[in-house]
Amino acid sequence: MEIRIIGCHGGETPRHRPSAFLVDDRIAIDAGSLTSGMDLPAQCGLEACLVSHAHLDHIRDLATIADNRCQKGCPPLVVAGTKETLALVRKHFFNGLLWPDFTKIPSVREPTIRFEVLTPERTHIIAGYKVRAVEVSHTIECCAFIVEGKSGALAYSGDTGPTDRLWEVLNGAGVKDLRAMLMEVSFPNREQNLASLSGHHTPRTLGIELKKYKKVKDLPFLLYHIKPVFQAEVEKECAKLRGLNLTIPKLGDHFIV
Ligand SMILES: [Zn+2]
Ligand SMILES: [Zn+2]
Repeated sequence: MEIRIIGCHGGETPRHRPSAFLVDDRIAIDAGSLTSGMDLPAQCGLEACLVSHAHLDHIRDLATIADNRCQKGCPPLVVAGTKETLALVRKHFFNGLLWPDFTKIPSVREPTIRFEVLTPERTHIIAGYKVRAVEVSHTIECCAFIVEGKSGALAYSGDTGPTDRLWEVLNGAGVKDLRAMLMEVSFPNREQNLASLSGHHTPRTLGIELKKYKKVKDLPFLLYHIKPVFQAEVEKECAKLRGLNLTIPKLGDHFIV
């Protein structure tokens, strides 16, 4: 399984892009920078996008990728998320006001995007991968994802503060051959109050959280969603966490897991 880092930050500057990750160039996980970080053939090559929640930094490039794919006549892009998340995206985003309703353009029969509802903790087949959503703890409904291909599984935390169910699922017998996890951390330790209010981790809570996973020493964690303002500080604090396999990826990185 190949993971390509399109965007891995909790904000944007010319050197930072919001969350968007590619699995084998076929499935995107979140859409924070799908058009700012990918050229047209790659945008058109995508089969599906998993959406963890409806916050703008995770969905915003659905607008521009839909526009591009529509003009290029690409096949419908499957946009998969929970019922609540997709309802928010429909109501507030692709509502014919803020942006056109691309589920009806160019036609209802062959639209640009097609929503697919994910039931938490049930396995769905999306673009040939087994996908499971697990609810996590954020300010609005948000899900982690477990994506399982032929060569093992990948976990993605979504935006979350301390949470329990995700680790129960990852520790359970249902998850086979977990190869890596994309894990959020957003604020430095001195901004714990802001992190708690906004449903995010600091390095301190991350260190406690990861130990909920039984085989924590064996699993590579790719840390994402660091706020650009605090990048250096959060990196320094993460470097002090011992006994964990942590990597802070950069834009354009790719990992084979
Ligand atoms: Zn969020
Ligand atoms: Zn976010």
